[in-house]
Amino acid sequence: MRIRILFLQAAASLGLCTFSAGALAVEPAKSPSERVTAAPDWKASAVSRPATTRPSPSATPATIPGEIATSTKFTIAIDIGHLPRKGGAISAHGVFEYEFNRRLAKELFERLKTSRSVRPVLINAGGAEISLPKRAEEASRQKADLFLAIHHDSVKDSYLKKWEVDGKTQKYCDDFHGYSIFMSSKNAKPLESLGFATTLGRALLDAGFTPSLHHETQENRLVLDREKGIYAFDDLIVLKTAKMPAVLLECGVIVNRAEEAKLNDPAYRNRLVEAISSAVENLAATTQSSPEKKN
Ligand SMILES: [Zn+2]
Repeated sequence: MRIRILFLQAAASLGLCTFSAGALAVEPAKSPSERVTAAPDWKASAVSRPATTRPSPSATPATIPGEIATSTKFTIAIDIGHLPRKGGAISAHGVFEYEFNRRLAKELFERLKTSRSVRPVLINAGGAEISLPKRAEEASRQKADLFLAIHHDSVKDSYLKKWEVDGKTQKYCDDFHGYSIFMSSKNAKPLESLGFATTLGRALLDAGFTPSLHHETQENRLVLDREKGIYAFDDLIVLKTAKMPAVLLECGVIVNRAEEAKLNDPAYRNRLVEAISSAVENLAATTQSSPEKKN
């Protein structure tokens, strides 16, 4: 199988990641105080402003399961990328990536709750300040068969231009658009991770979405599948610490003004959610759930 050969070649050639997390925001590149001074224009977008107070971890469950934890259904852990106070990338209209991640992850969660074959679990629904490895641990605790991190993309800072939104200076770049899929060969199930990445890429293409290859040109990220927009990113912490197949999806480029507008359109997001759901249900149909869940 061509993709597996490509992957094995890629896995053999990869050493330690020498590139910064950059736009992917494995860990937020800026401190919370720096983020606050960016003064995003919350009114300019449909997404809501993050909470200004930190939720209490003890008051908020780390996960919200779609139904009882003893389900024998195929379980997907949907991880909401970043945190309310460390929001990741900032959109062209000054909105934190976290708000886009939370909204889409919740819509995906609601859609998959209606699935006959899939049990969704939402990781860190309350926005508690949990570590990246803790997210993967929560997925294990919920006996997840698949881990999917939901993110939204930016570009390298040097590509950003300035513009004014409601009297405030914001940054944008309209030159890149589309989704990106990442997997790690350091994950416990690398071939299965690539298998789901391939299924997901196919589903997104079939639904009319296009991949962006800017992580190759801007960060020298290794492309595993150019047609479907799949990259290797071995040291993404949530992917390499997950005990189950794991993939990170950048749903779109929020510094692109037109793409940000699309991602704020419920009908567009519904198409995205349907494509992701079909990929998950496709995998569920061909995968045995964890044996321990059947006891
Ligand atoms: Zn992110």
